[in-house]
Amino acid sequence: MKEIRRIMVFGAHPDDPDICCGGLALKLTRAGHLVKFVSMTNGDRGHYAISGPELAARRLAEAKAARAISGIAEYQVMDHHDCELEVNVANRCEVIRLIRRFAPDVVITHRPCDYHADHRATAQLVLDASYMIRVPQFCDDTPIPEMSPIFVHPYDRFTDPRPIRPDVMIPIDDVMDEKCRIIDCHVSQIYEWLAWEKKRRIDSAQWTWEQKKAYILENWGVRNVAAADLGRARLIADLGEAGKRVRYAEAYEWSPYGCRNSGDVEELRRLLTV
Ligand SMILES: [Zn+2]
Repeated sequence: MKEIRRIMVFGAHPDDPDICCGGLALKLTRAGHLVKFVSMTNGDRGHYAISGPELAARRLAEAKAARAISGIAEYQVMDHHDCELEVNVANRCEVIRLIRRFAPDVVITHRPCDYHADHRATAQLVLDASYMIRVPQFCDDTPIPEMSPIFVHPYDRFTDPRPIRPDVMIPIDDVMDEKCRIIDCHVSQIYEWLAWEKKRRIDSAQWTWEQKKAYILENWGVRNVAAADLGRARLIADLGEAGKRVRYAEAYEWSPYGCRNSGDVEELRRLLTV
């Protein structure tokens, strides 16, 4: 019987899982595995003109559109306010219950050294849960499944205290166009808020797909180019000569948190590779 792998991605905002792990999610989903994205906040603050329920509703609709295009199993948006996610016991319990219910083989989240307080809080909540998901008297209304997920961080550009370690490399040239289409679903983020942050005003409704794709590659595809270069040795070890030609990749770092051990890197590579 075919092994169905279960992969869970926790991001702070609706668009983080897509940007960090969209390529991996597409490849695993196409191969028949189950991927769930979770946004820990509803994204109701990151905009220059709208906020509150109006913005949260747009962000939710965008996440649903991304789910529909990608075919992933689920995209859950939690109802915490943007910019206010706290590391507290209630939120820890929430994350524990989410993980126990989905029973993933792999849990992916930000590193705790991220620039954004919500990203750091998400990372801390997930890493705090990594041990406590196995404590039966804690959140005892939600049974502990037969699993011990491996915890993983996706590529980021932070260098303090150190750059991310590319333990597992996922070449994504073959799904890069689709990854761009998933990112394109997050209109209020990428064409409005993040463009405004860069002092650009974009009327994406007037753009062709080629213009949108060029903009997405210029601003987010560069991370996948940088990840491929960072993990080039690993790509070559995995793919031989073909590893030298990979342009876009996602890099993943094994986390020592959780209940498995350092031998997990090989197992992680197997679980994430199709
Ligand atoms: Zn974010």
